Amino acid sequence: MRYIRPVTPSSTEWSTRHSVQAVARRTAALVNALSDEEPTPGVIAELLREHGEVGSVDLSPSDVAEMRAAAVLLREVFAAAHVDVAASLLNRLLRQSLGTVRLTSHGGLTPWHPHLDSDDDAPWGEWFLASSCMALMVLIWDHQRPPGGLCASSSCRNVYLTQGSGLPRRYCSRRCATRERVASHRRSRAAR
Ligand SMILES: [Zn+2]
Repeated sequence: MRYIRPVTPSSTEWSTRHSVQAVARRTAALVNALSDEEPTPGVIAELLREHGEVGSVDLSPSDVAEMRAAAVLLREVFAAAHVDVAASLLNRLLRQSLGTVRLTSHGGLTPWHPHLDSDDDAPWGEWFLASSCMALMVLIWDHQRPPGGLCASSSCRNVYLTQGSGLPRRYCSRRCATRERVASHRRSRAAR
């Protein structure tokens, strides 16, 4: 007798589109895009679609301004070098900015998943902060380590997610890691 039905690609999609990892990846990508000098609603809407938002994404300049304010708060959590600091920063955000936890399926359109914003139609800035805090909170719960970090390259302001169980990560991307390695090689040769 089988109690567990085999997982088909479509049911995987149904259950993982809203997974913690997917939301965390979206959080990091949005924090980085919103930290640009002047992120446009078009660029942010495109990023939201890349990360699973469906239908028309209607963002105004004031929505983007609110999302930018949320990104500043979330960046502090990524900057925390110790899990205790990340946890207390998140606790402060949860206390000051967010509602009580509830489950929603968006009227049956999505799998049931938790929300911390006040309503399914909450403003974009509130939704971004709430969904990001939820994901970062679960990552801390799950791994007992800081959920992410800031790129160690002095010419980069990106955040990244802590991944796997190997060596601690220092750069947001292979591109930054390579650039820094080349630069340090040049410096050591010049010093000789
Ligand atoms: Zn970087």
